[in-house]
Amino acid sequence: MTGPVGPGGPAGPVAAQPPAPQDGRRPVIDLRRVTKIYGEGVAEVRAVAGVDLVVDHGDYVAVMGASGSGKSTLMNIIGCLDVPTGGRYLLDGVDTRRLDERRQALLRNRKIGFIFQSFNLIPRTSALANVELPLAYAGIGSRQRRERAVAALERVGLGDRLRHTPNELSGGQQQRVAVARALVTQPVLLLADEPTGELDSRSTAEMLDLFAELNEAGRTLVVITHEGEVADRARRVVRMRDGLVLDDVRLRPVVDRSAAAVGS
Ligand code: ADP
Ligand code: MG
Repeated sequence: MTGPVGPGGPAGPVAAQPPAPQDGRRPVIDLRRVTKIYGEGVAEVRAVAGVDLVVDHGDYVAVMGASGSGKSTLMNIIGCLDVPTGGRYLLDGVDTRRLDERRQALLRNRKIGFIFQSFNLIPRTSALANVELPLAYAGIGSRQRRERAVAALERVGLGDRLRHTPNELSGGQQQRVAVARALVTQPVLLLADEPTGELDSRSTAEMLDLFAELNEAGRTLVVITHEGEVADRARRVVRMRDGLVLDDVRLRPVVDRSAAAVGS
């Protein structure tokens, strides 16, 4: 799995794009008739069967659905880890269709912070170095890297654990390091796949409080989860079945604080 620390590295512009509107009004995610088909003929599987989904700045979306309903496939497309078979995907206004792998990796590193079920931290490496890594890939100098990583770790309440390695931290603390690593590049989207799947109930509650705080500050979140208590905290719940969006329910309105999100 290629995440924020995957290949890509520093490189040039993503693609020729129209100038970005500065008001934060374009959607973060804009999926139009997106399909992902595996195999052919009788073996054909329509893992994603034609999904339209628009997620605006400041939203907090939980994606639910039974095993096999297409959640991971859709997440991989949203995260630019995989390309659709058909349809169109605009990530923060950037059309992902014609990007080669390198540009896709670059877009991913710039726009998305990933949080995984199993944390995916580098073992025997300090929290600080783990959080600095995506900035190193982005070609940011060591002094700024250090400052931003410390600030991100303080943001998640781990300012007193900078030198600890993953095995010296609890599961909940490791996942907070992973959140700091996801945040440090100031991504437009935080994308989490079962982020509380390996946490105990207390760490889960702390993680959900942290997500709520980040969202209140203007961060856009998309979280895959099986757990009702996780989905209940989101602003919107999207349920999938057989590769389609079965229903899409808004629990709370979106408050657009995109200006406030800068620097948080
Ligand atoms: P979920 O994450 O909701 O459990 P997935 O997105 O993993 O669902 O899978 C959706 C469907 O696509 C399933 O029927 C699964 O078997 C199929 N599928 C997923 N990945 C592949 C693949 N690489 N090749 C073939 N079929 C796949
Ligand atoms: Mg899955």
